Amino acid sequence: MVQHNRLSHALLFLGKEGSGALQLAMAFAQFITCKPSTVAPAEPSLFGEPEPVLPIQNQVSSNDSCGTCPSCKKAQELVHPDIHFSYPVIPRKSGDKPIATDYITEWREFIKLNPYGNVYDWLQFINAENKQGNITALECNDIL
Ligand SMILES: [Zn+2]
Repeated sequence: MVQHNRLSHALLFLGKEGSGALQLAMAFAQFITCKPSTVAPAEPSLFGEPEPVLPIQNQVSSNDSCGTCPSCKKAQELVHPDIHFSYPVIPRKSGDKPIATDYITEWREFIKLNPYGNVYDWLQFINAENKQGNITALECNDIL
């Protein structure tokens, strides 16, 4: 899709529990936001002439992110401004209308500790106990 510039506006990564669908989606998001330097630094050759300048993009796989550019680092730390997360949350107190962003600190910690965790693990992580997590209409509006 990326190589043929046919990226859809939305993709659903659906997999059985433990299959790593979330990790795959996050890796894909990192890949499409990866911005490696486009020009390698020119170094003098043994004969004193600069080597031809090759785009770094041609030196790394076009099937994966570089993993080292500032964009990849932000994606890995779950702080990339163009990568958003939505997940069920619970009100912190009665009457609250929480959105996922209210729990972003907990989410980042959860994902680092439980890369293959499920929604039950997540809700236990935020001490939902027997409360049902919810993606609210407010959350949907926030996504829009
Ligand atoms: Zn990168």
